Amino acid sequence: MNPERQAKFKIARVPVPKQDANQRIHNWGEVFLGYTPELAMVEAARCLQCEHQPCTVACPVGNDIPAALWLIENGDFIGGANKFRETNNESEICGRICPQEKLCEGACVVGYKYPPVFIGKLEAFCTDYQVKTEGFPKREIHEPTGMRVAIVGAGPAGLTVAEELAAAGHKCVVYDAWPKPGGLLLYGIPNFKLEKRVVDALISHLEEMGVEFICGVRIGAGLTVDALMHDHNFDAVFLGYGAPVGGKLEMDGESLKNVYQATDYLVRGNVPFEDLPEWQRALPHSGKHTVVVGGGDTSMDCVRTAKRLAPDSQVTLVYRRTEAEMQGRAEERSHAHEEGVVFNYLTTPTKFIGDEEGEIVGMELIRMELGRPDISGRRSPVPIKGSEFHIDCDTVVLAIGYSADTEIPETTPGLAADRKGLIKVESEETGRTSRPGVFAGGDDVRGADLVVTAVAAARGAAHAMDQYLKDIKRTRVMTAAASASPASADATVAGD
Ligand SMILES: Cc1cc2nc3c(=O)[nH]c(=O)nc-3n(C[C@H](O)[C@H](O)[C@H](O)COP(=O)(O)OP(=O)(O)OC[C@H]3O[C@@H](n4cnc5c(N)ncnc54)[C@H](O)[C@@H]3O)c2cc1C
Repeated sequence: MNPERQAKFKIARVPVPKQDANQRIHNWGEVFLGYTPELAMVEAARCLQCEHQPCTVACPVGNDIPAALWLIENGDFIGGANKFRETNNESEICGRICPQEKLCEGACVVGYKYPPVFIGKLEAFCTDYQVKTEGFPKREIHEPTGMRVAIVGAGPAGLTVAEELAAAGHKCVVYDAWPKPGGLLLYGIPNFKLEKRVVDALISHLEEMGVEFICGVRIGAGLTVDALMHDHNFDAVFLGYGAPVGGKLEMDGESLKNVYQATDYLVRGNVPFEDLPEWQRALPHSGKHTVVVGGGDTSMDCVRTAKRLAPDSQVTLVYRRTEAEMQGRAEERSHAHEEGVVFNYLTTPTKFIGDEEGEIVGMELIRMELGRPDISGRRSPVPIKGSEFHIDCDTVVLAIGYSADTEIPETTPGLAADRKGLIKVESEETGRTSRPGVFAGGDDVRGADLVVTAVAAARGAAHAMDQYLKDIKRTRVMTAAASASPASADATVAGD
C-alpha cells in the first residue's frame, strides 16, 4: 500500500466533544459541541482522497467530500464550507442530522477496517465556522425576471427551491401553515439535535436574498393552488408540504388525555411558545412514567425530549421488533441509552387505560416474536399468545410514522397523486407534476424521509422550474410581439 495512505490509516478517529449525558438531560442545547479547528484538521486528514469517491456517490446531493475534506485538512475551512455548499443548500443542517452511517460514512473506504471519517461532523464544523466568522456566503442574484413563484411549505424542500429560484432572479413567496418558516427543522426536530439558531440563520439568509414568507396560512380548500396561479398571479407553484399526518394505532384509549401524537408532543416540548399557535402553548404533561411507542428517529426524539422535560422520571420506549430492525440512527439510540431511556423491544400496546377523569393511567401490552419478512424486507412481529402484561404510565407518545395529507391533491384538479396521497412526479430530477406549472418534491412525493433527500429533490425541481419560467417568459414575449406586429415576432425569434 502507498505509504501516504498507510499513514492516514494510523490516525485514530477524533471524537467530537459532546455534553455528558447527566448534564445534557438538564438542558436543551445540542449534544455535540463541535470540533475545534485543530481537531477538524486532524480528522479531515484521515480522508484517503479516493479517486472513485464512494462517499460522493452515496450522498443524495453528491457532495464532493474528498475536495471539501482536503481543504479542511489544509486549514481552509471557508473553502471547505463553500465546497459543501456547491451541492447542498442546508449543509450545516445535514452535517448535524443526516444518517451519515447509511450514506457517505457508510461508503467510506476507511470504514472497511477502522471507524469511517467523521464526514458529517466535519461538514457541520466548517459551515458553522463560516456562519460564525463571515455569515452566510452571499449568493450571486441574477437580474429580476419578473416571474413569480409560490412555494407551499417552508421545510427543507421549499427553502431550497426558494434559494435557488431567488438566485435565478425569480420572485419567491413561501406559504406555510405554521407561524414560522422552517418546517420540521423547527417544528419537529428537537434542539438537542439541531438548535433553532441554525435554522433562524438560514431563514435570515433567504430573507436577505428577497424571499418573502407568509406564515400561518394553509393552502388547500381555503386558498387553492388554482387561486395562487390565477388570482395571485404566480407563474409557477412548488409543493413542498411534507407528509405531516401522524400515524394512529386505532385502539381503545387512544384519545385519552396525555396521549400525544409525536409532532404535537415535540413542538410543545421544544418550540418557544411565541412560535406556536395559541392552542399549543402548553408544555406536554410529564409525570412519573412516559411511554413512547415506535422505533424510528421520531421515537428517539420523543424519549429524549421526555427525559429533558422530567429528568428524574422513567421513560420507556416500546417497539414491536428488535433493535436490528430499527430504522433510525444508531447514534440517536446510543444517546437515548446514555440518557437513561429503557428500551422494551418485541412489545406492542393492545389497549390504553384511563381513569375516571379520562387521563391515561396505564396500558396493556403483548410480547411479540419475529416471523417472516414483510414488504419492507424486515421480519414481521407476531404476537405471542398469553404473553399480555400491564404497565402503569401517565404520558404516552405515539411515534409510529407519518403519511401524506391529501387536501392539496383533492383541491387541485388534474394534480395526480398515488393511492397513499403522495404527489406523482415525472421524475425526482424535475419534480414536474401532472399539472403544468406545478412542481413538487420532498416528503410529499417520497413519503416521510430525510432532509437531504428533500434538498436533493428540491434542487432538481428548482432547476426544472427555472427552465419552465424562462420558457413561458419567452413564449409570452413572442406572443406579445406577434400580436403587436407579426414582423417583429419573427425578428424576436431570429434574435433570441
Ligand atoms: C421528529 C422528526 C425527526 C426527524 N429527524 C430527522 C433527522 O434526524 N434527519 C433527517 O434527515 N430527517 C429527519 N426527519 C425527517 C425530515 O425532517 C423530513 O424528511 C424533511 O423535513 C422533509 O422536508 P419537506 O420540506 O419535504 O417537509 P417538511 O419539513 O415537513 O415541511 C413541510 C412544511 O409544509 C407546511 N405545510 C404542510 N401543509 C401545508 C399546507 N397545506 N399549506 C401550507 N403549508 C403547509 C408545514 O407546516 C411544514 O412547515 C425527522 C422528521 C421528524 C418528524
